[in-house]
Amino acid sequence: MKDAFDDNTEQAGPEDLVTAAFSRCSNWPKTREGLLGLAQGLKRASDASGIAMDAILARCALLSQFCPTDFDLDKVAKEMAIESQPKAPSGCAICRGSGWESFQKHVDPLNTDYARHCSCARGQWMAAQERRRKEEAAAKKRARGESA
Ligand SMILES: [Zn+2]
Repeated sequence: MKDAFDDNTEQAGPEDLVTAAFSRCSNWPKTREGLLGLAQGLKRASDASGIAMDAILARCALLSQFCPTDFDLDKVAKEMAIESQPKAPSGCAICRGSGWESFQKHVDPLNTDYARHCSCARGQWMAAQERRRKEEAAAKKRARGESA
């Protein structure tokens, strides 16, 4: 048996979400293509940033009384992803807060400057972030390979 309560508990798709959030705006797209473009933009922005679709829409609604474009959705999602990252620890005297330490290595016939992550908390935090990004990129690549 299906009633109104069941409908409310169904998982809302990107189309339903953008419609609920912005269909009353003066610049709401008049065409089906416009709506679909917006819904796809929302899905893309959410997938790329890891921020939930309804959270992106809620932020857009706070920022403006107008319906966002898919460009706006992507921009807002990226900003939210940056904000949600843990704060970087501060650096030390060696790296002067950069998290990078430069060192010289003798490679015949030259002394060459290199940079490596500093051994302080900031340098190690940056190294961990870089590893995490690489692992995530590799995982996405694998997921694409399997679904193709
Ligand atoms: Zn340091």
